[in-house]
Amino acid sequence: MGLLSEGSPLTWEETKNLADHVRKHGIIQFINLYKRLKERQGDLLKWGDEVEYMLVKFDDEAKTAKLSLRAAEILRTLNEKEQNDPNNIKSLWRPEYGAYMLEGTPGKPYGGLLVHFNVVEANMRYRRQEASKLLGPNEVLMSVTNFPRTGAHDFTDPPTQPTPNSGASRSLFFPDEAIYLGHPRFKTLTRNIRQRRGEKVVINIPIYKDKNVPSPFKEDFGTLANDESSSAAKEDHIYMDAMGFGMGCCCLQLTFQACNIEEARTLYDQLTPLCPIMLALTAASPFYRGYISDVDCRWNVISCSVDCRTEEERGLKPLKENKFRINKSRYDSIDSYLSEQGEKYNDVPLIYDDEIYKQLMDNGIDKLLAQHIAHLFIRDTVSLFSEKVHQNDLENTDHFENIQSTNWQTMRFKPPPPNSSIGWRVEFRPCEVQITDFENAAIVCFIVLLTRVILSYKLNLLIPISKVDKNMARAQKRNAIIAEKFWFRQDITSDVKQQEDDGQAECTEFTINEIINGKDGVFPGLIPLVNSYLASMDIDADTHCTIQAYMKLIQKRASGELLTTASWLRKEVISHPEYKNDSVITQRINYDLLKKIQKIVANEISCPELLGTCISSKTNETIPAAVAKAEKVPI
Ligand code: ADP
Ligand code: MG
Ligand code: MG
Ligand code: MG
Ligand code: MG
Repeated sequence: MGLLSEGSPLTWEETKNLADHVRKHGIIQFINLYKRLKERQGDLLKWGDEVEYMLVKFDDEAKTAKLSLRAAEILRTLNEKEQNDPNNIKSLWRPEYGAYMLEGTPGKPYGGLLVHFNVVEANMRYRRQEASKLLGPNEVLMSVTNFPRTGAHDFTDPPTQPTPNSGASRSLFFPDEAIYLGHPRFKTLTRNIRQRRGEKVVINIPIYKDKNVPSPFKEDFGTLANDESSSAAKEDHIYMDAMGFGMGCCCLQLTFQACNIEEARTLYDQLTPLCPIMLALTAASPFYRGYISDVDCRWNVISCSVDCRTEEERGLKPLKENKFRINKSRYDSIDSYLSEQGEKYNDVPLIYDDEIYKQLMDNGIDKLLAQHIAHLFIRDTVSLFSEKVHQNDLENTDHFENIQSTNWQTMRFKPPPPNSSIGWRVEFRPCEVQITDFENAAIVCFIVLLTRVILSYKLNLLIPISKVDKNMARAQKRNAIIAEKFWFRQDITSDVKQQEDDGQAECTEFTINEIINGKDGVFPGLIPLVNSYLASMDIDADTHCTIQAYMKLIQKRASGELLTTASWLRKEVISHPEYKNDSVITQRINYDLLKKIQKIVANEISCPELLGTCISSKTNETIPAAVAKAEKVPI
């Protein structure tokens, strides 16, 4: 998303009345865009990461750590550089959902040389330092997926109070002041999602039943409680009731440019089975609202946090006002593949409006793409600005983007923006963000390398979509990396055209270790494939060293030799002297945990169980011209 355009949000009633208008023009805009850009060829690999951060304020006397609600202020300064000299900056900064969040990306995308892998971590470090310079005393920028005490008593700086009876969220726990208010988008989305649904969002995440957690675990919400919360909160679960619990989490995303639309469709499909695998491998969010949960990832929380489906759409009431029963929230894993190769694995019934589908087909869009777009367009707009209602459908794509950008799925198929030099792109969205730049760089480089391996070896990783959905559920379970097996394609290297299977027969359950590191005689392993790909390339010594440090980290996480972030976080809390085996994360435990993270990130203490012993890459802020010149062949 570019710099968010300013404007005045319409009320929910006005927005609702314009839902068909947005859909109608969004589809026309897509058709126009498609006709103009479908033959676009020859774009080079470009790619970039997005890292989200939280601002944490420590009080060393009181021993507390709270979310600092100063992102808007910090962002104003960070954006000045971009406004003054947009082409010569090393970083770009964007707002995110939380008033305590920032999103940073490299100043421009990376290109297709191996040597670019050597600047990723340095750029992440630069971003961290750049933003950190603007912080107050005891304020720290942290890349943590979730703040352990979001929504618990007294979790913000300055202090705030939730307003259960007024405002956008109406949460018992999450105050509107914790929403980024520098742009109306976030608060508007919050209000509209709640109003569309007809009630507050409901998030129930199983609590970790340590030995002193009462059975059943049932919270008393005291004076805050009302009927809605009492009936929504499930026993033995951590109950949450606001968009901020999910959209207020941080993640790590990646976007790649493909050479043309076909390659983008292939990458979209081939990366899909990797989403749950990478979610499990990057698991980093076991804590919610001051409690230890029984899951390791944010995914279901965020999915429920923006679930705007009505009771009819969720199948609780017969359809009357609404058109469709819808199985998933608008934030969830994808429902269909886009490439010809993927077609036979589309085994989940797709819901879409037949007329929209037909309109797309009548305009020369093939079945797979038409059903993908039509499926995205079952959703209503949940944020509309008065200035944007009437558009020129030949030039603008805002209505299309309105629906596209609020379908928050594991993968996103991104058409070129109007009037730009940017090509067809694919975004990889499942990963949880890690505490250090080293880990985040490792994940990013691994995924980018995988895309190269997939394309050059013509790998086929496809499995039925229903199996990907099953894997998504498994990936979030506590300690999934060790305890769970995942559906994965066994034969990923045979020539695709020769394979006549129905997909079911071809996939087997593997551990993450087997998928990443290989299983003797059965499965080659993704890292061995990456290594064999790299062996055929000319690669300078520093880049080689950096990539190897990253691949080692991934391998050791997968094998269980190193802990996932989630397992490490659990261990830290459970071994804290103040912890009472009640799954409660007190202010003090939270403070000590975040202080420790800060020290690990600053390299003041080591953390071999999480990072291993070899955490020094050769990352460098600039690419020596001679090295870039010597590397002639793009990856
Ligand atoms: P969004 O929030 O919509 O996903 P952002 O603009 O925040 O998008 O981030 C997109 C990422 O894509 C950034 O890392 C950016 O560097 C990268 N990027 C920019 N231009 C291109 C391009 N032409 N091809 C691939 N990636 C690109
Ligand atoms: Mg972004
Ligand atoms: Mg975004
Ligand atoms: Mg973001
Ligand atoms: Mg993104």
